[in-house]
Amino acid sequence: MLSEDQKKNLIQTINSKVATLTCPMCKNHKFVLADGYFNNPMQTDFSSISIGGPSIPSIAIVCSNCGFISQHALGVLGKLPQQTS
Ligand SMILES: [Zn+2]
Repeated sequence: MLSEDQKKNLIQTINSKVATLTCPMCKNHKFVLADGYFNNPMQTDFSSISIGGPSIPSIAIVCSNCGFISQHALGVLGKLPQQTS
């Protein structure tokens, strides 16, 4: 699970990018950070599943009222290591 420093850093980053957190479903303003990363696999063929291919690492915040999940790509947030090649 995420450390307290990781959580604090991610929350600060989200708050710096999104001026007012508002749930698109219920208009609530309170979210909680999911305690871990997501790694959504990308598929080029929806008739089969491949594991270990390209993916979009992300974090998610969850609306505290209705449970709506908002995912945010770690690459865009500047939270992925820079590729050196
Ligand atoms: Zn909501």
